Amino acid sequence: MEKIYMIPVNDAYNEHGGCPICRLREKAENNYLEYYLGPSLMEPDTRKITNKTGFCPVHMGKLNKAVTNRLGLGLVMHTHLKDFNEDLNPRLKSAIPAKAGLLKGRNPDYKQKLNNVADLLEKRISLCPICDNLNDAMGHYVEVICWMFSHDKDFKDKFINAEFHCLPHTALLLRQAAKLSQNDAADFVEAIYANNTATFDALISDVEYFTLKFDYRNTDKPWGTSKNSIQRSMRFLSSDGRDFDEQQSKKQS
Ligand SMILES: [Zn+2]
Ligand SMILES: [Zn+2]
Repeated sequence: MEKIYMIPVNDAYNEHGGCPICRLREKAENNYLEYYLGPSLMEPDTRKITNKTGFCPVHMGKLNKAVTNRLGLGLVMHTHLKDFNEDLNPRLKSAIPAKAGLLKGRNPDYKQKLNNVADLLEKRISLCPICDNLNDAMGHYVEVICWMFSHDKDFKDKFINAEFHCLPHTALLLRQAAKLSQNDAADFVEAIYANNTATFDALISDVEYFTLKFDYRNTDKPWGTSKNSIQRSMRFLSSDGRDFDEQQSKKQS
């Protein structure tokens, strides 16, 4: 099994709170953001890719916030815009419908042409090398997690006792489990199931308590573990925690 993936996996499971696979994803994402803002910008091979792909909306936002290399970002943006324009401009131009007149009849082809240009636009907008790299890395991580679960007793305990695995990452784990032999999958999915139901039960109960605290009769009761239950639920439901930390919620109660 590849060591370069085992070390970060262990680190992520040694930390506490939230989903360990989200921690792995965040670290890997930050590395790729740094990579695409670093010296790789000037490498012709990388530029060949980013000229075509640019970045998806989420990663453009993150690159924009990482102010370390504005010039680099400008250079990438410049050649990407040029590439996009050269691709789109002639197709858009040829998709302008000819007006039907006395000499030219009606031609329904224009509908297909317009849809084709829209398809091209939507496809290109969604391309992103950071997403591609990240998906690859997550595939390796989940493979390693699965392997360590059945080969490393300490790791197995950490996996079982993780605060939770968020639902998008539970889906990744299940897809990996589907590649195992039936016996290996049995143990692994059992552990996922136990963790998952315990998380659902705890969150359902905490969020209910949170709502009951709004009843004036409960004003003086303690918050217990319910105070940040909305944010914890959001982090469980989605692997992207950008807006789900407690500080973002201005009015907690
Ligand atoms: Zn997660
Ligand atoms: Zn992306």
